[in-house]
Parts: sequence; C-alpha cells; structure tokens
Amino acid sequence: MSRLMGQMMQMPLMISSLLKHAARHCADTEIVSKRVEGDVHRYTYRDAELRARKLAQALARLGCQPGDRVGTLAWNGYRHFEIYYGTSGSELVCHTINPRLFPEQIAWIINDAEDRVLCFDLSFLPLVEKLAPGLSSVKHFVLMTDRAHMPAQTGIPGLLCYEELVEAEDGNYTWPEFDENTASSICYTSGTTGHPKGAVYSHRSTVLHAYASALPDAMGSSAQDVILPVVPMFHVNAWGLPYSGALVGAKLVLPGPHLDGKSLYELFESEKVTFSAGVPTVWLGLITYAKQNNLKFSTFKRTVIGGSACPPAMIRTLEDDFGVQVIHAWGMTELSPLGTLSKLKAKHLDLPPEAQRRILEKQGKVIYGIDMQITGDDGRPLPWDGQASGNLVVRGPWVIQSYFRRDESPLQDGWFPTGDVATIDPDGFMQITDRSKDVIKSGGEWISSIDLENIAMAHPAVHEAAAIACKHPKWDERPLLIVVRKPGQSLTREEMLAFYEGKIAKWQIPDDVVFVDEIPHTATGKIQKLKLREQFAAHVLPT
Ligand code: ADP
Repeated sequence: MSRLMGQMMQMPLMISSLLKHAARHCADTEIVSKRVEGDVHRYTYRDAELRARKLAQALARLGCQPGDRVGTLAWNGYRHFEIYYGTSGSELVCHTINPRLFPEQIAWIINDAEDRVLCFDLSFLPLVEKLAPGLSSVKHFVLMTDRAHMPAQTGIPGLLCYEELVEAEDGNYTWPEFDENTASSICYTSGTTGHPKGAVYSHRSTVLHAYASALPDAMGSSAQDVILPVVPMFHVNAWGLPYSGALVGAKLVLPGPHLDGKSLYELFESEKVTFSAGVPTVWLGLITYAKQNNLKFSTFKRTVIGGSACPPAMIRTLEDDFGVQVIHAWGMTELSPLGTLSKLKAKHLDLPPEAQRRILEKQGKVIYGIDMQITGDDGRPLPWDGQASGNLVVRGPWVIQSYFRRDESPLQDGWFPTGDVATIDPDGFMQITDRSKDVIKSGGEWISSIDLENIAMAHPAVHEAAAIACKHPKWDERPLLIVVRKPGQSLTREEMLAFYEGKIAKWQIPDDVVFVDEIPHTATGKIQKLKLREQFAAHVLPT
C-alpha cells in the first residue's frame, strides 16, 4: 500500500525566521536595554535584525565554521540578543554561560563546550582576564562594548571590540536555511552533583518551544505586550522570551545588570512593562522595595514565576496588593525550560476565589508538546488523583534526549526523569512536592520541604524560609526550618512553630527553627539546600 503524503511546503523551523518575522511585521517595535555602561539604549526589531546579520558576517570573518560554539558571559541586553540570533541564525551555536558560577566552573564549562569565541560584557572583564590563559579552545575574545569603553590595557591578547566588529560589516547577508534539527544553543545545568552537563537545543525545539510558550494558557504573550525578562538570558535562554517575544512582536525591555528592586521598579514604570518573568527571589526584592515606598504598578499586569516553588503568600501579595496576576510555572534546563504553567480551565471559573487560588498555587498543566507521568520506584505509573506522589518523568520535542558529549542516556523507557517528586490531580494540574534529594524522610514518611516553606512564608514577619532535613537518631530525618526575618520584625522560635498548628499534620511540623541573616542562593537564585544541609549538619534538634 502506498502512503498518501501531505503536499505542503517543506520549510525548516529556523530561529532566524523569528527575528525576520519581527523585523518585517513589527519593524518599529522597540528593544530597550539598560546598559552595563549605565545609560539606556533603544532601537527596533528592524535594527536588531540588521545588526544580527552583520554579526553573522563578522563571526564568519573570524573563521567560525558551522557548529562552532560562541560563548557569552553577559546580562540581558541588546548585544546579547543580537548574539542569540547572529550565532544560531548562521549555523553557529550560542552558548550562554552563567557568570554567577565559581570561576573554576565557568572555565570548566567553556572548555567542555570548546567555545571558539567568547563574548562578554564589561562587568566580566576582570573575570575573563583571569580565566583566559586556561581557555585553550577560545581563539577570539570579544568585549561587548564600543571603542570608547575598551580598556587601555588588558591581559587578554588580541581583545576585540564588539561594536567595531559589527560596524565593519555591510549586512549584505541572507540567513541560510538548513536542517531544523541542527544545534542552535547550549545551556549547562548548574551541576549540584558532579560536573555540569550541556543541554543542546535545536532550531526545531527552540521554535516549537517559542510557539507553545506564547499560547494564551501558557505565557499568553502578544504584540501588545511590553516584556521585561528579569530571568537572565544565561538562565535557560531567559525561559525562551527572546524567541517568543520576537515571535509575537512584543516590545522587549532588557534590564542589564540592574536587578535590584528600585532599578526594576523604575524600568517597569518608565517603559510601561506589562509582563515579566523571574524566580521567586527577585520578586522578594521588588515587592519589598515597592511596599517600603508605598508604590503601585501602573501597567504591569502579569508575571511568570518559576525556577523554584513560588510561595502562595507571594502570589497573594502580588495579586491583592499590586494587581499582578501570577502564572506559576515549572520547568528545567533539560526542557528548554517550560513544562507546565498554572492557568484555570473554564470549569474553574465559577469556583470561589479561595478554591481557584489553591489550583493556581500548583505548578500547573503541561503545554501541548510535553507529556508527563508520575511513577513509583518500580517505574509503574501512579494515578492522577492529586494524592499519590511519585517521580515526575516527561517527554516531548523540546526535552533533551542526551547530554552534550555524554554517552550514557539519561532516559528511562523513553522518558526523562526530572528528579522532582510530584502529584497530578484529575484535571492534570501537577504539584511539585520536592526535589527528590530535598525531601525530608521522617520515620519512613515523606515531608515536603516546599509545604513547610510555603507556610513559613505566609507569616508576616518572615522574609525568606528554607526547610531542610536534619539527622535524627530515632526518625532518621526531621525538618529544620531556617528563617530570615523581615527587617525590624521580631519573631521567636515558639511563635514560628505555633504558626504551623492546624495547617499541617502535627508530625510534619519542624522540630526546630534557626534564625539567620541570609539564606544562600545558587547561581540561578534558588535556595542552596545542599549548602544549608552542610552548614547545619551538626545542628542538634531539641528533644
Ligand atoms: P538546576 O537543575 O540547574 O537548578 P534548572 O533551572 O533546570 O536548574 O532547575 C530545574 C529544577 O528547578 C526542577 O527540576 C525543579 O526541581 C525546580 N523547579 C523549577 N520550577 C519550579 C517550581 N515552579 N516549583 C518547584 N520547583 C521548581
């Protein structure tokens, strides 16, 4: 039997097509950047596309060949945006590197990826000067600035100036078309255990992720939006916003290194930002600043919060005090990163607000393209009853199949094990209980550290809280709560513990509370549980 084939055009899904589309259909829509140099830069998608073409020409002139990796150590800004497109669009691979990692880790990652070119912001000149002698694959170092800001002296031989490279070209360049499965970019996982591993995205996976993430039940981006990604462009491609923003033709506002509450607030207001995205810790800073100064947002309407569990108290504050809708989302580097987002279904619209909130506090439903399951330790699927919790596994066209240059497959029966423990309710809303390594195992029962943190965060005197497992002679592990108080607030151990009563089962209430000035965060702004566990390894729980 001969198969009847579809008779549609074969057009590979190319990352360059996103920018070409924006440049043609939203040519005068702005991209506004707060520069490392301190000033504000503005131009349009039309300008960005032209400069990305010039950059592609410049990189070819430097000898880059298809497949070569171009590393970046850079904040969110228009030059970084041009590198995203100029590299991938010309069959090079954009490798964004998290500058908040330890220098040794950064060097390890650059050497593992064998970056041929390294582009970096002025802020990272001292770091790169230190690392350069150990970066044998890097043939060209490019400082992302203009001639006037180039250092008079530097230890980096042949340091190139980004603006000079770009402006030397004529832009007479046509974006090539090639296999949509070609690598487009690499992000490394933060490697809390062992060395970081590279997730290698393709043009196809990136464009599909951009399509899906822009849907109304996902981020719901549109050409009417002004999007400010607080999430860095070095943290899983700013959750795809530089791609989905171009796909819908939204104005982009890129905050550079200025991520404190005051700078962000001023940028939200001056650029009329409608939509944003970031990890919970950045919102802590912004909310504190806005509250202390009695400020409201005039245009800001909604934000995606993910990367770690968003405490329900934060959702309430943003919605009730600031009128900002929170879209709680879950994802990971290996998923490009979006997996689930929490938005109501039609059947939920008549529920009382409290019941709606409880749904929205979950990590949400998968977007079409991602398939998920929870499994028991025997690998068998568990029911979607909102009660059974198991290992969350996923698959889909923007989920990795293997890591960069690693032979062993991470997949189990074709599914990617996320390392997260979750429940799924009959409506498909997934809720993360914990990362499997953070769960607290007390007398054979699991206690969710996220649940304990969410309750603590609802206390008006708590700025931030972390729950970790503490060794216990009888129960194996018991929960220890670590709390940062809000400035000027008093809160005792007894008051904190009393706050748990009636909110969870008695045996789940932490055994002890420790007050600290600061909780350590990872390079992507998550609570560093491993470090806390080490720090409090010798903590003796009261009997
Ligand atoms: P890393 O693994 O390097 O920390 P990722 O950014 O890929 O970097 O982190 C993915 C992990 O972050 C997930 O596996 C999950 O444990 C956690 N995570 C992400 N979003 C959420 C969320 N909304 N709630 C709880 N945990 C989350």
